[in-house]
Amino acid sequence: MSDASQPNGAAPAPKKRINLRTPEIMKLVQEQVESHYRSPVVEYLRHTKSYLSANGLTVKLAKAFGFCYGVERAINLAYASAKYFKGHNIYLLGEIIHNPEVNDQLREMGIKQLKETRGVYDLDGLTEEDVVIVPAFGAEVKVLHRLKDIGCYQVDTTCGDVMSVWRRVHQYRKQGTTSIIHGKAWHEETKATVSQAISENGSTHYLVVFSLAETDYVCDYIRKGGNKDEFLKKFEGAYSPGFDPDQHLVRVGIANQTTMMKNETEEVQHRFEKAMADRFGRGNLDAHFSKADTICGATQERQDALSEMLGQEKMNLLLVVGGYNSSNTSHLAEMGEAVLPTYFIKNSEKLISPKEISHYDQHRQQEIITHDWLPEGKAVVGITAGASCPNNLLEETIHRLYEFRDVEVESLLPADYREIVGLAPMPGDSAGHN
Ligand code: SF4
Repeated sequence: MSDASQPNGAAPAPKKRINLRTPEIMKLVQEQVESHYRSPVVEYLRHTKSYLSANGLTVKLAKAFGFCYGVERAINLAYASAKYFKGHNIYLLGEIIHNPEVNDQLREMGIKQLKETRGVYDLDGLTEEDVVIVPAFGAEVKVLHRLKDIGCYQVDTTCGDVMSVWRRVHQYRKQGTTSIIHGKAWHEETKATVSQAISENGSTHYLVVFSLAETDYVCDYIRKGGNKDEFLKKFEGAYSPGFDPDQHLVRVGIANQTTMMKNETEEVQHRFEKAMADRFGRGNLDAHFSKADTICGATQERQDALSEMLGQEKMNLLLVVGGYNSSNTSHLAEMGEAVLPTYFIKNSEKLISPKEISHYDQHRQQEIITHDWLPEGKAVVGITAGASCPNNLLEETIHRLYEFRDVEVESLLPADYREIVGLAPMPGDSAGHN
């Protein structure tokens, strides 16, 4: 259906293939996507590498933020489906990406979400004439097989970077190597990836480790053995059926969820490498250990840009905009928290007033209210956004910030730029920007 091809042996080819990316369809899609998510203010700041400053408030954006190529492609294909398959039932497997505004927009366009109970999609009742969109983070092999059996149209938006990880775990599977995935066992992408790591006869295995603490526990087990029951209880839900830590940790290959923290994934690889060398000898390492860097380029770019911003800019606080279930966004928030007051918000409505902000606390997994978050007088606010966050949400956030200072954001853009992008002329065209 889409032009994404599955890696060999990964998932069955859809029964019906249709090219949705024709110039006619894509032209209509581009216009609609732009009208939903475009932001002249953010584009101006991105292209001029500039910042806004007025009434004591300075707003700076990270150099890389927001929609990545994989997300753009997934959204384009979902919009194209709505145009091509008029009159059909169109369903999404879960969410197209982890951003509530984008998913709401698709719902408004008539694309329904398939019902899910404890991670299992209800595919009963789908017919050959229905359309199912596979999200950017992919789907489990058994779900793809079921869709193929039903014979419905599949629009596969799985990102190429996710499929690179699948190719890596296929290699491990073929070698009989246990895949160690640095990721979140409950995340859709990791669930899809681990389903690619196991063979039908149950002879290959996987284990998902989330943190360095979990990594150390497994590495200790590799070196010295330990209590198997305790191990299996600790990692319940994060290993393949039949996984036995005494048998299946003698030959391991590391891969990761594409959106993890790059330096943490590197540390996971390093610790496993050392543990395997300690147990089997450095000279025998090749027979027992493999690794691959499968952090996606977009995640890395956003983390690097934020790291640079945190190191070089003097800021009072950081706003991280994006869906609370977005893995790459949550890591940006973690990076900010380590350095300065950081508020993870899903949209501008969370900026309740200059005295009150509602934001997501990842540790408590709930929104909390913080008072006196925005300094009075001079303040520098940094902003970044995850790979699934559209620019219009950033623009609304910037508007909200300047509302608190009685400034119209458009007045901070040069008059000629406003004219080019079709914004209404302002009375004070000479008002400056920086
Ligand atoms: S964050 Fe990375 S893996 Fe996910 S869709 Fe974007 S490019 Fe693909």
